[in-house]
Amino acid sequence: MTVEDLRLLVRTIPDFPKPGILFRDVTTLIGNGPGFAAAVGHMAERAEAAGAEVIAGIEARGFVFGAAMAARMSLPFVPVRKPGKLPVPVLAIDYALEYGTDTLEVDPGAVPDGARVVLVDDLIATGGTALAAAELLRRAGGIVTQALFAIDLPELGGARRLRDAGIATDALMAFEGH
Ligand code: AMP
Repeated sequence: MTVEDLRLLVRTIPDFPKPGILFRDVTTLIGNGPGFAAAVGHMAERAEAAGAEVIAGIEARGFVFGAAMAARMSLPFVPVRKPGKLPVPVLAIDYALEYGTDTLEVDPGAVPDGARVVLVDDLIATGGTALAAAELLRRAGGIVTQALFAIDLPELGGARRLRDAGIATDALMAFEGH
C-alpha cells in the first residue's frame, strides 16, 4: 500500500472535539489490516534508519503505532503515560495546552542510559506534546534524536519546533488545516 492509499484511510471529522477542529481520525486506518501493517512497516523502516534502540509511544494513540513498531523490530517499548497510571515513582513533566496545562509521566528505569530513543505518536500538531515527551525521555537517560508520526499538520508548526530543538522529525502524510 502506498502512502497515498494510507492517506485515504484516515477519516476526517469536523468540529471534534470542539468547533473549528478537523479531527484526523486514525481509527479507520488501524481498522484496515493491510493499511495498519503498511503504516507500521513504513514507520519501522524510518525508525531503523534512525538507529532506534528503544521505541517510546505517547498515550494513547502513540501506543498503537509505537508498540506495533517495537514488536516488529524486537525493540523495547516505553509508554509515555498520562498522570497517575504508572505504579512506581515517576519522572513527570507539565506542558502548556491551548487552555491550561497537562502532564506526562515515565518510569525512570524504563530507558537504558544513553539509549537512542525514537519517539512515536499518531499525529503532530503544535508539537507541545511531543516536545514535552522528548524532554521527559531525555531526563530518563535516553538520547532522543528522531520523532515519527503517521500524520503531520504542517500549518501548526510542530514539526518545525521539533527540528529546531534538534529532533529529526518525519511523518507518513500531511494534511492541510488545523
Ligand atoms: P500537539 O501537542 O498540539 O502537537 O497535539 C498532538 C496531540 O493531540 C496528539 O496526541 C494528537 O493525537 C492530538 N491531536 C491534535 N490535533 C489533532 C487533530 N486535528 N486530529 C487528531 N488528533 C489531534
